[in-house]
Amino acid sequence: MEDKTTIIENDIFKNVVSHAKEYGFVFPSSEIYDGLQAVYDYGQNGVELKNNIKQAWWKAMTQLHENIVGIDAAIFMHPTTWKASGHVDGFNDPMIDNKDSKKRYRADVLVEEKAAEYAAKGEQTKADDLVKKLARLLESNDLKGVYDLIVEEKITCPVSGTCNWTEVRQFNLMFSTQLGSVADDASTIYLRPETAQGIFVNFLNVQKTGRMKIPFGIAQIGKAFRNEIVARQFTFRMREFEQMEMQFFVRPGDEMKYYEEWKTLRLKWHKAIGLPAEKLKYHKHEKLAHYANAAVDIEYEFPFGYKEIEGIHSRTDFDLGNHEKYSKKKLQYFDNELNKNYVPYVVETSAGADRVFLAILCNAYTEETVGDGEQQKQRTYLKLHPALAPIKAAILPIVKKDGLPEKARKIYDDLKYDLRITYEDKDTIGKRYTRHDLIGTPFCVAIDHQTLEDDTVTIRHRDTMQQERVKIEELRLKIRKQTSFKSILELC
Ligand code: ATP
Repeated sequence: MEDKTTIIENDIFKNVVSHAKEYGFVFPSSEIYDGLQAVYDYGQNGVELKNNIKQAWWKAMTQLHENIVGIDAAIFMHPTTWKASGHVDGFNDPMIDNKDSKKRYRADVLVEEKAAEYAAKGEQTKADDLVKKLARLLESNDLKGVYDLIVEEKITCPVSGTCNWTEVRQFNLMFSTQLGSVADDASTIYLRPETAQGIFVNFLNVQKTGRMKIPFGIAQIGKAFRNEIVARQFTFRMREFEQMEMQFFVRPGDEMKYYEEWKTLRLKWHKAIGLPAEKLKYHKHEKLAHYANAAVDIEYEFPFGYKEIEGIHSRTDFDLGNHEKYSKKKLQYFDNELNKNYVPYVVETSAGADRVFLAILCNAYTEETVGDGEQQKQRTYLKLHPALAPIKAAILPIVKKDGLPEKARKIYDDLKYDLRITYEDKDTIGKRYTRHDLIGTPFCVAIDHQTLEDDTVTIRHRDTMQQERVKIEELRLKIRKQTSFKSILELC
């Protein structure tokens, strides 16, 4: 049975999801056809918020580090890329179907959930043993063993309640399609499951043309695609998503130093964009991927629990080494100081733009009671970092007459080149404040009759609802200062 806190937390998550839809942040994809599972579209406010998150990342990576540059590689890549990276043979999840409900599950997740059940009942040893047993079976690719474990543990389908399972099969998560008009095996290409490989294959292009010296990094933001078996929790697990990845090329042997450095720097960035320290933690990987010699996740405490938003991996020379092997091209760096060639080692930071977006949205969503006695009312608003807010300021004449709209328009026209702002004159000023609270606009600028007399306006602050009177000529500087990325970058 769920405890009371879980129910309340789940309710909050439900509210966040419906808020995202109602106020133009996230819509289900092709909704008029009832949507497409685990695919979402960003609406008019969502795209601004997501772009701002991506900018905060891009600036932190490229502007704050002289030795990091960006690229934008194509989604389609030569198919051998994915053979070399290990994705064709190894990018699988074990899946199982329940014959009665016809529902599909990740076999490993079913066992992990059973272990979590044991742990919740205080049977920690039993839980640990089960997790270890599962890890051993997966490592030796013993799918029959995983099936036996599910039956042995009497794990039932949450929908049908039965134990009537199919065998466990490996399922490759890459989407494939055909290049050109002739469909044969040679023309099969993949939608990239990670952006990293676009960086590896361009390693020498960037190093040579940019005259980069090791250590240096290449950053990229772009779409990635995974045919996730179980897609749940809104934009947390999608089939089409966006990654913000940086590969840092270092001397072999130096990788642990840079791994520790990037671990610290990346956590700092998440705090700088407004995620509270007490809701962030590291989760060290015990079982390492085939390419890694150290790996840690940064997890955020979503309403549905602590979950990964970014991975930091020491990838050794696995990727560049394999691309050398498959392409038969040298991917080496000549180190002047050491007077020798080598394949660099790589430390990767890999964050999901959609997961960071969801974390920011969950964290910003605020319901509070304001006022006293009869005046008491419920207020909902998004407490977004001003630099991330979709709209920085709303320019609002308090009434739609007496020359106030014309004055407000003038202010709007003057500021619109520097700031993402809106002009609105419909409905009462109170209703307009509420609308902007709901999308997280940090400043509402009210133009009233006094404005016509002394060129001053009222700024209403979203979080405190406090109002202050300022001169029109001070507006630009004041709003720019408080909504600038500088306040984020200074903390990175
Ligand atoms: P998970 O274990 O949750 O499937 P992962 O370990 O496979 O994630 P990575 O391959 O390390 O994820 O990818 C790096 C980042 O990309 C993740 O930290 C996450 O933020 C993001 N990401 C991965 N898969 C998805 C997805 N299906 N939907 C949204 N974001 C994703």
